[in-house]
Amino acid sequence: MGATVMDGKEVAKRIRARLAEEVRELGPVGLATVLVGDDPASHLYIGMKHRACEEVGITPFDHTLPATTTQRALIELIEALNEDDRVDGILVQSPLPDGLDETEAFRTIEPVKDIDGLGPFNLGQLLDGRSGHVAATPVGCMTLLADYGVELEGKRAVVIGRSVLVGKPVALLLLGANATVTVCHSRTRDLADHVRAADVVVAAVGVKHLVTPDMVKPGAVLVDVGQVVVDGVLTGDIDPACAEVASLMTPVPGGVGPMTIASLLQNTVRAARFRRGELVFAGAAS
Ligand code: NAP
Repeated sequence: MGATVMDGKEVAKRIRARLAEEVRELGPVGLATVLVGDDPASHLYIGMKHRACEEVGITPFDHTLPATTTQRALIELIEALNEDDRVDGILVQSPLPDGLDETEAFRTIEPVKDIDGLGPFNLGQLLDGRSGHVAATPVGCMTLLADYGVELEGKRAVVIGRSVLVGKPVALLLLGANATVTVCHSRTRDLADHVRAADVVVAAVGVKHLVTPDMVKPGAVLVDVGQVVVDGVLTGDIDPACAEVASLMTPVPGGVGPMTIASLLQNTVRAARFRRGELVFAGAAS
């Protein structure tokens, strides 16, 4: 069997085209990014996010700070962005340099502008199954599954990875879609046995080809979040040979990556709608 490729690039392109229309109707929408220090990967990601913003008509507000920035200065900047009416969404690029408190930074972002969904209010809303902001990568995974018509109700889903950024939110979203969810991590015993029982696998680990064909149930749906650069080549957590066993599978690159960027833009447009009172931000059942 050869799995159908879940083409994140193609789905993301459609989402971006729709968002460009929405932004034209909405008027000015702004995303402020805060990047501290010299991490080359972070600079690359922020550059990609700015280009994607411009493509759909979102105004990016770039705040690049030196690695020597103090916690106080970082918090003051976020507070100023909270007050800035041109800014609909705020993104603090992770990881921050050593010595800066990422959690405090995320907590300082006004919940309605917290488009990464990493502050306590939005994490609480997610846990409670209520509307708010959810991080872009988990949203991108779910959008891709929906676009390919993957039925989740009653299915066994295995999430490998339990980070606050990906693993935990994706597990909660799958649970919200009525899948039966198992979360695996570095201390999980017999990972292969868990994966073998799964109808849907979301791998968010960062270990090249951790999931191998012998671990995959025939016909399973595989979503590869992992991004591992080995000898200059971007690879994922799932061995591409798993396509012989799976029914649907995301490629790396071209799967979850483009969906993450599109979902970030989508979250920013949602923030703009929340802020304009077109959507109810807090307390509404999702
Ligand atoms: P993370 O914070 O490092 O979390 C990795 C998770 O994997 C942890 O929960 C860890 O378990 C678990 N893990 C590590 N080794 C394992 C093993 N051998 N078996 C089972 N579980 C294992 O990373 P993250 O931020 O969630 O990102 C995960 C991957 O996704 C990375 O490759 C990252 O680059 C990629 N990513 C991609 C996108 C995208 O747009 N495509 C976006 C975000 C992240 P413990 O909790 O026990 O340590």
